[in-house]
Amino acid sequence: MVATPIGNLEDVTARALRILREVSVIAAEDTRHSSRLMQHFGIQTPLLACHEHNEREQGSRFIARLLEGQDVALISDAGTPLISDPGFHLVRQARAAGITVVPVPGACALIAALSAAGLPSDRFAFEGFLPAKEAARKARLALIKEEVRTLIFYEAPHRVLATVADLANVFGGDRAAVLARELTKSFETLKSLPLSELRAWIENDTNQQRGECVLLVGGWVAPVGEDAVDGNAERVLDILLAELPVKQAAVLAAEITGVRKNLLYQRALSKQAR
Ligand code: SAM
Repeated sequence: MVATPIGNLEDVTARALRILREVSVIAAEDTRHSSRLMQHFGIQTPLLACHEHNEREQGSRFIARLLEGQDVALISDAGTPLISDPGFHLVRQARAAGITVVPVPGACALIAALSAAGLPSDRFAFEGFLPAKEAARKARLALIKEEVRTLIFYEAPHRVLATVADLANVFGGDRAAVLARELTKSFETLKSLPLSELRAWIENDTNQQRGECVLLVGGWVAPVGEDAVDGNAERVLDILLAELPVKQAAVLAAEITGVRKNLLYQRALSKQAR
């Protein structure tokens, strides 16, 4: 599993180049795309296609080669294979067949973005690509709204504005966010703004809707003091919600626990959205 650069070719490792030269064959997501990389580094190893659509059947051919004792390197178009890229089925098949699978680490857009974003990096959740359709995207976001870890998304340039708008709507416009665009390339940009401001910034500068990008969002921070819904209030609300309509459940839960009615109502609505 050989990582290749995500833009800047200087990011290829010395070990990756040696292995790409030494193996019998390179399994590549897009052979035309990767042949440019091979040409640049003067690597003549044959390239064979291994992409999303042929990975399962092509996989057995690679396994056969490996069982004969040949070495096969897997690369994707950019970065680390398997990270929002093909390779999972091949790795699983290879390991099941007792073949040694060796990671040759290198560039990965989500790690590069996280390393420079200035958001908490001790715990994070990589969410890959969100659904392309708005309703499905919002439903997915509602499920992770209260995730406390830093959230990382990959996004296509033509969807970045819509996605940041949905993030602001579902998570609230104040949540800290970073747009990491064109990493390691000439127009590299890392912009930190609260979600609502980031949305406006992207909207007003169409250049920000071009190129490749990673979106990072700060984790949910539980409200404290007046705005807190403690465990007990949460439990009472859950019990009442199982039996009653949202409004009635919120009113009763407020009477029982002393927590503000509006807060419990909002809480109940967000629970229902999940
Ligand atoms: N396997 C790759 C990796 O290790 O990062 C990711 C492949 S995925 C198909 C492509 C997505 O990764 C892009 O849509 C973008 O979200 C992100 N990406 C890749 N290169 C990037 C770059 N130079 N700057 C920002 N994001 C990048």
